[in-house]
Amino acid sequence: MDSSKKNQQKRRSSAPSSMPRTLWSIDSPTRDLQSSNNRNAVNVQVVLRCRPLNEDEIKARTHLVVSCDELKREVTATQYMAYKQTERTFVFDKVFGPASQQQELYDNVVAPVVNEVLEGYSWTIFAYGQTGTGKTYTMEGEGRKEKNGKLHENAGVIPRAVQQIFNVLESERADYSMKVTFLELYNEEITDLLAVDKGLNSLYDEPKRSLLLMEDGKGAVFVRGLEEEMVSTADEIYAILDRGSAKKHTAETFLNKQSNRSHSMFSITIQIKQHKSDGSELIKCGKLNLVDLAGSENILRSGARDERAREAGEINKSLLTLGRVINALAENSVHVPESKLTRLLRDSLGGKTKTCIIATVSPSVLSQEETLSTLDYAFRAKSIKNRPEQLMELQELYMYQQQLTVDLKDKLESTRRELMKTRESLFNLEGQYRQAKDVNKDKEVMIFNILSSGKALTERALELRSDLESAASDVSALFARIEHKNDLEERNRHHIQKFHSQLAHQLEELDKVVSASATRQEQNWEAIQENAQSLLTSKAAAMEELLKQIHNLKDLYTSSVKRLDDSAEELYQNSELAFSGLRSELSAHSSCIMDLIMKSSSDADTISNGLKINLNNLGSRIESFIQQQHENHTRTYQTSKSISESLLSFFKTLRIYISNLTFTEEDFQTITSQKLRALTKTFEIQTAVDDILESACERTEKLNQEISDVQTITADAEEKWTNYIERTEGNYGENSAAIEAGKGNLGEGLQLCITKSSEVAEQRRVAEESLLDLLKENVDSVVSFIENGTEENEKIHARFSSIASSVFEETDEARKKLVLSVEYPVRQDHESLDKINVLSARCLDNMKETNNIHSEKVDEISRTARKSLVDDYLVDGSSCLSPKKRNFNLPSKECIENFIDRSMGDPLHASSSPDAVAQ
Ligand code: ADP
Ligand code: MG
Repeated sequence: MDSSKKNQQKRRSSAPSSMPRTLWSIDSPTRDLQSSNNRNAVNVQVVLRCRPLNEDEIKARTHLVVSCDELKREVTATQYMAYKQTERTFVFDKVFGPASQQQELYDNVVAPVVNEVLEGYSWTIFAYGQTGTGKTYTMEGEGRKEKNGKLHENAGVIPRAVQQIFNVLESERADYSMKVTFLELYNEEITDLLAVDKGLNSLYDEPKRSLLLMEDGKGAVFVRGLEEEMVSTADEIYAILDRGSAKKHTAETFLNKQSNRSHSMFSITIQIKQHKSDGSELIKCGKLNLVDLAGSENILRSGARDERAREAGEINKSLLTLGRVINALAENSVHVPESKLTRLLRDSLGGKTKTCIIATVSPSVLSQEETLSTLDYAFRAKSIKNRPEQLMELQELYMYQQQLTVDLKDKLESTRRELMKTRESLFNLEGQYRQAKDVNKDKEVMIFNILSSGKALTERALELRSDLESAASDVSALFARIEHKNDLEERNRHHIQKFHSQLAHQLEELDKVVSASATRQEQNWEAIQENAQSLLTSKAAAMEELLKQIHNLKDLYTSSVKRLDDSAEELYQNSELAFSGLRSELSAHSSCIMDLIMKSSSDADTISNGLKINLNNLGSRIESFIQQQHENHTRTYQTSKSISESLLSFFKTLRIYISNLTFTEEDFQTITSQKLRALTKTFEIQTAVDDILESACERTEKLNQEISDVQTITADAEEKWTNYIERTEGNYGENSAAIEAGKGNLGEGLQLCITKSSEVAEQRRVAEESLLDLLKENVDSVVSFIENGTEENEKIHARFSSIASSVFEETDEARKKLVLSVEYPVRQDHESLDKINVLSARCLDNMKETNNIHSEKVDEISRTARKSLVDDYLVDGSSCLSPKKRNFNLPSKECIENFIDRSMGDPLHASSSPDAVAQ
């Protein structure tokens, strides 16, 4: 950049730094937008803020390309291009270097703005710059309230402004009302960040509703349906801010994670009522718009694709338009391009609202291009002028409105008077209208009557016409009928003549046939008479034969009955015989059975007695056997006892002997040893003696050993024997007791047997007796049965005989009746034959007579037919002629209707004209 341009920039933006209540360099050499409004025009204030390097940049030792001189309000950007280093310096209204604090920026830039807002001005503060340069940091800041109620040192412009506003209002105890709005412009669509979500759980799920930008007709732009929330404390606003910030669109891109692609606008509107000394009220209305714009970077570099590309394009569109608007306004161009953002900010860009742009830049070399473009942009914006309006204008407006109201009141009064007059005339008119209406009604009724009578007339004429039509058709039908009748009559005459001749001919024929038939009838009757005679004769012969047969039958029947009687007699005799045989057999049989029972009874007695004797014998034998056994046992026991005693004594003796033997042996040993010792002394054959002694000792020892063995064995045998004896004794005792018990049992069993056998004998005897009684009873019943049978037989025989005789008599009587009944029809036949003969003779006579009558009648018919059909039959003569058929000319329906319409004077037409009715 050449130094002359730099100087120009400096010059342009140089402004007196200490202007008491005016922020803007009114005397700036920037061209005025509208020279007529020059008096109030103020330039847009442009502040530049450069953020410090962040940790990553410091680590990467990033070059710094921006230097700030806060005192001179200068920013110098170094540009490296093709190994060349160029520098550009920009002058702004205020410059804040990387070390600047939030409080500093606020006190210097925003605090005066807020004071003006409270005075009734409208202000807009924009944050403009590349993403990541600190727009949001500046506007919203980081961290809000400390515990002591003070704001955090990193808190941004918005919370500080809110705090200041409330501090001032509360200190002045002002009568005020305050409302806020919070909107977001994203993808050229406006979303209300304060709208309450309905039916959605998450803020992020909400399909955001786009709001429309509208103009109020005076050029002011507003967002339709934007929610305005009334607030009364700073905390309420903080809560609203938190809520709105959470709804903002943020998207991650490759370039910057915190990239904010939407513009957000937070607005506070304050109305303060002031009471003036003259008693009137003054209302101050101030507005503060705080706008956090989207990143101004070159969007194509951000790597966004597809839908993001559109989004990027839209953001660019708004930003580019903003840039173009700034350019246009700066160059005082007539055409100002529009986008939603610029429309929203219309008032702030060259309008009535005062504007402050906080441009943010990064000091890093990596952002040098964007930094330069931001600096250019901000510098250009410096030359835009606003024409702020203050409360006074509003007051004028209010006065004007008051005047307008008075005028309107007058007008209203005169209008009311006019209205009264109009009402009166309307009332009169209504009366007239009602009268006219009544007349109309009468006329309408009349017309209606005429119309209905015309209608009835037409209907009647039509009815008559149709009657006439049917009468004409009837007449022509009648003519046709007459013609037809004449024709028929002619033909009938021919037919009748023909019929007469045919009738005469046929009567002749009939006469012939009838006389022939009469002759045949005569012959037939004679034949019938003959046949009846012969039938009677043959019938009489058959009757004779029948009677003969009946006689034969009677004989046969009599002999049969006789035979039947004989056989009945024989049957009776036989049964008598059989019964007597049966009786004798039965008595023999019963006596036999009785004998048998007697015999078997005596036999059973004998057997039972024998059994008793045998049982008694058996008992005594068992007794003796037991006794014997007992004795044997005792004997065995005694023997064993004696053996045992002798054995014990033997053992004792043996023991004595053994002890004696021991003693003897010991003595012998002692003596032997003494003798040997003496011998040794004598013969000094010590060694040999010792040997002998030793062997003797050995022998004695052996002997002793054997003796002790014998003793042991003996003691053993003795012990065993004693045990045996004891056992035998025990066994003996047990056996004796068992035998004794067995004996008792056997005795009891025997006794039981004996008792049972006597019981059996007794029972048998009783059974025999009852059997005998039964047998006797049976024989008696059989005998009585036989006697009864015989008796019955006799009765049946007698009945049979009487029946046979009565049957015989009845049969004879029946035979006689039969003969009689046979003879009666024969007689009847004869009588009938006589009658037939008489009748046939009479018939023949009748027939002859009929034949004669018939011939006479035929003649008569023939005569009558001729008379009535030929002579008397009359036909229409040609003297009176039938009228001929002709056509009728009936008038058509249309003719009748037209005629009636004409004669009615067309009232239909007359009624359709309202004028005619009204008159
Ligand atoms: P932008 O809104 O422009 O995209 P941010 O406000 O989100 O950028 O800032 C990006 C980062 O830089 C944040 O972490 C913020 O803390 C930091 N930052 C920005 N400006 C400053 C500053 N003046 N002082 C300290 N840190 C800053
Ligand atoms: Mg941001």
